[in-house]
Order: sequence, then structure tokens, then C-alpha cells
Amino acid sequence: MSAPPTALSPAELARYSRHILLDQIGVTGQQKLAAARVLVIGAGGLGSPAALYLAAAGVGTLGIADFDRVADHNLQRQLLHDNAAIGQPKVESAVRRLHATNPFVTVVPHAEGVTVANALALFAGYDVVVDGTDNFSARYLNNDAAVLAGRPLVHGSVFKFEGQVTVFDPAAGGPCYRCLFPEPPVAGSVPGCGEAGVLGALCGVIGSLQALEAIKLITGIGEPLRGRLLTYDALGQHFQTLQFARDPRCPVCGDTPTLRTLDPSRYEAAACTTPAPNAFTMSSSEIPLELSVTEAKARRDADSAHTVIIDVREPYETEICRVAGAELIPMRQIPERVDTLPRDKHLLIMCHAGGRSLRVTEFLRARGFTAVSNIAGGIDAWAQEIEPGMRRY
Ligand code: ZN
Repeated sequence: MSAPPTALSPAELARYSRHILLDQIGVTGQQKLAAARVLVIGAGGLGSPAALYLAAAGVGTLGIADFDRVADHNLQRQLLHDNAAIGQPKVESAVRRLHATNPFVTVVPHAEGVTVANALALFAGYDVVVDGTDNFSARYLNNDAAVLAGRPLVHGSVFKFEGQVTVFDPAAGGPCYRCLFPEPPVAGSVPGCGEAGVLGALCGVIGSLQALEAIKLITGIGEPLRGRLLTYDALGQHFQTLQFARDPRCPVCGDTPTLRTLDPSRYEAAACTTPAPNAFTMSSSEIPLELSVTEAKARRDADSAHTVIIDVREPYETEICRVAGAELIPMRQIPERVDTLPRDKHLLIMCHAGGRSLRVTEFLRARGFTAVSNIAGGIDAWAQEIEPGMRRY
């Protein structure tokens, strides 16, 4: 990006020939990759594929920030590590694997991970930051530090069978994470840190997309996902893109930002804790964050005047099947329709499998809606447990 082009040796020209053959990349683009410095946060499910592709692509300097050690249950999806690495620091295992993949890449381990104390200086030393962390506290810290350091942040996240990718880049006029979700959810109200399941190959899809976005930012090709949230539903095999704009009231990238430094107290509220076994279905208030389809139907049947199911799937999906009486508002229209939604009713949010609707539920809670719950498993669970005759897809 900013560094001068790096001359490539004959061995490197041969190694990267399939990149160089692409007109949009060529020798110049490959030199930009060789001069680039990318920081990957988290050597886990997303960081593994992202770092492997970035190393193979010839990114000159690859930083890996992770404070954790390899555990056996990581190996289902964290392809940087293998059996022999169990118990070792993840950064050590990552450095070994990335060097083996491409000896031309300088891999810099940051074994302390990203902290409030080191984030700004760490980010300032890189051109692009790839966020592969799995908890809200870290995501807000990474977002705020990237905005303050003026670095683009390639965001990725996964939950069960759904994932999302976007690029936060206020320095280039784009929005940030807090433009989407101004404040973190209440601690323990959303699963993180491994207690929710995730399909391993889904991490491969999302982490690879993150690597791809980083490569586009470095080489200046294509359209980065600035102001666009790409969501992926692995069960239905659907991608969709939601547009979102910078919020002028955003506390970190808005017109009059109030967040100018990294205050440790800001990142404790949503710290990654191990919740009680039933924490997933019990939030701090009496309205649970999530309800099973049976619970959701029971609530609606008990008080249909004050309960409304909002189906956030796309129109083509609601053509296939829908719950009678549900209000249909596609997810991408939620931000503009938020002021029209009733605050005196219990909103039950539904999608196909429960991932998109959980994000809408979090979005509405962040905007002050307290009586809003996600319907776990979505209409697919409804079709299996409530209306067996309903068409599935
Ligand atoms: Zn913002």
C-alpha cells in the first residue's frame, strides 16, 4: 500500500505466476503484496484460512496475534494447527505452518494478543487488519483501535451455520462496527468463546473471504466490502449483501466522536465469560434472547395481541413457506423500518435457520428494544416441530 514496490526474485516470480497472469494483479500487484503488512487477529477458525491464503499469496509481512494455546477441540476447524501442536501457543504453531507454506513471508508472532494497552501501536505497524476474533469485547476493541489508527479492518464472524464479512474503513469514508451495533450486548446474553457450535468448513468460507478482501485492499482491485455486509447461510447456500452507511452519530467514527482513546472499562461489559449452562436462553431481563419454536408459538398463542412474529427472510424465501400472521420484513429493510416497529409488543424474530434473525434481534436490542427474542432454528425448526406439512428448503 504505502511502502515502495519490492523487487521479486525469479523464484518468487515463478511461485506467484498464477497471480501475475491475472491482468488486474500482474507483477505490480504482486509487488504490492510483497510490500504489504497484514495483521491477523486470532489464529483460530477464521484466522487459520485467512493467514494461510495471505501467506500463500505472498503478503510480505504477516503478523499473527493470539494469546491462546492449541486445544484438541480447535482442530475441527483451525487448520493452522495439528495434533503435535496441542498445548503449544497458537502463534508458535502458526509461525511454523505459515513458514512451511511460504518461506518468502516474514511471520511476526504477537503472543500477547491484542490488548487495550498495545492495540493502537500494534495496528499502526500494519497496513490492513483482519479480525478473526470470536467475542464481542475483542470485536469492539479491534474496531475502535482500527478506527483510531486509521487502518482498514476486515471483519468476519461465524455462528452455527451462518457467517458474515465486511470491511470497516472510516478512513476511506466507510462505516465501522459501531455504526452497525453502537454498544456491545449484555455479557452472557450471546454465546461466544466456543459454547455455540460452528460448522468447521463454514470458517473456511468466511476466513477465505476475509483474505480475499485484504488482497483487494492491498492491490486496489475490485470493490471492497466497505459499507456492505455480506452474509452467508451455509444450510440454504445463500449469499446476500446488505448495504449500511456510516452513522454520523457513531461514537467512534461519527461527526462528533466521543470515543477518542481506548478506555479499558469500555471493553469489560461484553468480556468473554463462560456463562451458566442455560445462559443462552436466559437473558438478564425476563424476555429471553432466544426462544425455541415451541416456546415462541406458546407465547404468541397465549397473547397474540401483544406478540408479533417478524420474518426477516427474503421475499423469494417467504414465497416458499411462511408462518400465518407473521409480518414480513427482509433483514436489509430493518434499519430503515426500525422506527415503525411496535415497542409495546413482544417481537419474535424469525429467519431460515436462526442466524440472520439473531443478528436482527441484537440490532434491535442495541437500539433500545427490550421485548425482542430470536426464534432459534428459524422456520426450518418450525416446519419440523410445529407444522410438519410446511415446505422446507
Ligand atoms: Zn462508526
